[in-house]
Amino acid sequence: MSWGTRSMMTRRFILATSAVGLATWLGSSSSVLAPAEPFAVTHTDEEWRKLLKPDQYAVLRQSATERPFSSPLLNEHCPGVFACAGCDHGVFSSETKFESGTGWPSFWAPLNEQVIGTTRDTAFGMIRVEVHCSRCGGHLGHVFNDGPKVTGLRYCMNRVAMTFNPATT
Ligand SMILES: [Zn+2]
Repeated sequence: MSWGTRSMMTRRFILATSAVGLATWLGSSSSVLAPAEPFAVTHTDEEWRKLLKPDQYAVLRQSATERPFSSPLLNEHCPGVFACAGCDHGVFSSETKFESGTGWPSFWAPLNEQVIGTTRDTAFGMIRVEVHCSRCGGHLGHVFNDGPKVTGLRYCMNRVAMTFNPATT
């Protein structure tokens, strides 16, 4: 199945189930529809431009999406923690990473519910749930509800928005 087909199916699925599935899940998050929440780590736009590499800035601060399969580290299989590239805040563990076949690193759960925030994203005519770092607000990716059985969620992340810290044990 091509990504395009999958994306369309995902979109229809989300539209059809938004009233129950995602809405229920999002009900626990106070950040829905409120992207301007205060973050512990803040910088001016100019500072972010200096702190981040251009591709990191495009994703984290401008909500761009990296090209699928563009990351040489996509098949990172070592145990460890993926952290926000903007503030080094741990967001995902290798333990919840799975092969989605989409070309983006995918996880079925974040490290915990506090490390990320979500907002409703209606860009490009799609209704999606945007995922960002709860510490600096950097855009990380989107979450869809067509993930594996464990949680049923698929956190579709941009590899460039995260750094990988291998476990030391
Ligand atoms: Zn961050």
